[in-house]
Amino acid sequence: MFYQECAHDENTPVHPVSAPDYMPMDQLRALQLHRLQGLVKRVYENVPLTRKRMDERKVKPEHIKSLKDISLLPFSVKTDLRDEYPFGLFASPMNDIVRFHCSSGTTGKPIVIGNTKNDIDLWQQACMRALAMCGVRSSDVMQVTYGYGLFTGGLGLHYGGEGIGCAVLPISGGNTERQLMMMLDMGVTVIACTPSYFLHLIDEGHKRGIDFRKDTKLKHGIFGAEPWTEEMRTKIENATGIIAHDIYGLTEICGPGVANDCRFHNGLHIFEDHFYPEIIDPETQETLPDGEAGELVFTTLTRTGTPMLRYRTRDISRINTKPCQCGRTIRTFERISARSDDMLIIRGVNVFPSQIESGLLKIDKVLPHYMIYVSREGDLDKLEIQVEVTSETLSDKIKTLEKLRSEIAQSVQHIINISATITLVEPHSLPRSEGKLCRVKDMR
Ligand code: ADP
Ligand code: ZN
Repeated sequence: MFYQECAHDENTPVHPVSAPDYMPMDQLRALQLHRLQGLVKRVYENVPLTRKRMDERKVKPEHIKSLKDISLLPFSVKTDLRDEYPFGLFASPMNDIVRFHCSSGTTGKPIVIGNTKNDIDLWQQACMRALAMCGVRSSDVMQVTYGYGLFTGGLGLHYGGEGIGCAVLPISGGNTERQLMMMLDMGVTVIACTPSYFLHLIDEGHKRGIDFRKDTKLKHGIFGAEPWTEEMRTKIENATGIIAHDIYGLTEICGPGVANDCRFHNGLHIFEDHFYPEIIDPETQETLPDGEAGELVFTTLTRTGTPMLRYRTRDISRINTKPCQCGRTIRTFERISARSDDMLIIRGVNVFPSQIESGLLKIDKVLPHYMIYVSREGDLDKLEIQVEVTSETLSDKIKTLEKLRSEIAQSVQHIINISATITLVEPHSLPRSEGKLCRVKDMR
């Protein structure tokens, strides 16, 4: 079996579930084409909206002769799922559906995704591959703090962990006191949650005198569901001694387990034998070559309940051209720096919250808790960033604080090219989150 011959950390032998990560490239491309052809046929025959769009373009399933031909196919977007609510995009009869998941969205009806037994099984495999990539093994104890229920985070990681053979603690979100108690008492080695909730746990743990290095057995954090930065990774790792991994996914494509970073952190490896990636120019909708930045688009090559053709994620990234040192052949994309919906236009400049985070967290004295406020004074946009620092820092001389504020402002301005007013605030004074955290208030 080829997986045994692959390069990997000798201390963590390759897990059998990871075999497809190392598939020879020509085999992988042939498999993707075969699967794409099957998918297009299934969707064309079962989903009226897609059939109509393909007919308008005069494209038939048999026109897909190479992977490049994917660009002949129509895109799908979130509003399609809303417009066709609840079952319009289903490609399997209800008899074959075994579970629904929903994504909240911000307004109106949720979007509904149907999973067949096939979909649930392959999703579990994807989450197992993601966990295996992080070095999670059957001896681990995993606390799943993502929400269970309609949200995909909890159940996705749960089945992934059970598949690997971990002892899974399905505690779901909330109740920080209990989270910390069980983390200690159960000897938890892996925690899966949003990075912002983990920050909250660190904070509350420190308040109770917990030293994460000495008092817990934590080794790995599986963090996703919201954008975060390399600077945040460093802060989390330094505060706890764990390795912080990045897991990516979205409900429309299955949930977590679409992509994950390996120990080299060269971006996130895409499980592209199931989720075929493209990067497009969001304006012209043209497919861009690997290496260029644009909007991530996924085609679910093997899903049967609610398969997606060229689903536009709104997430901004680029596919890396260099192979990763870990030896995997599946490609990586750069960590998601932003969601195009999150872009702020401040004084005519495009600004992503993650850029502000990068600038802030480069400064040692800054704690990883901040809020961004945008307002308008007369004709001018005003950007204020409130950021927590320790009480000791706040008790420094006024001059020292002024110097710190200007150091932070410069670090941020260096990245976003606009000036911001920096306000230093007491620790624990800014909002915390038990799920996805919104750190921006746009009051214009
Ligand atoms: P909702 O649209 O309700 O937030 P999801 O839970 O499906 O639904 O969220 C998926 C989105 O979450 C992705 O499109 C992406 O924007 C974000 N996301 C998920 N994982 C990550 C990650 N590791 N890094 C950055 N963003 C992520
Ligand atoms: Zn790698």
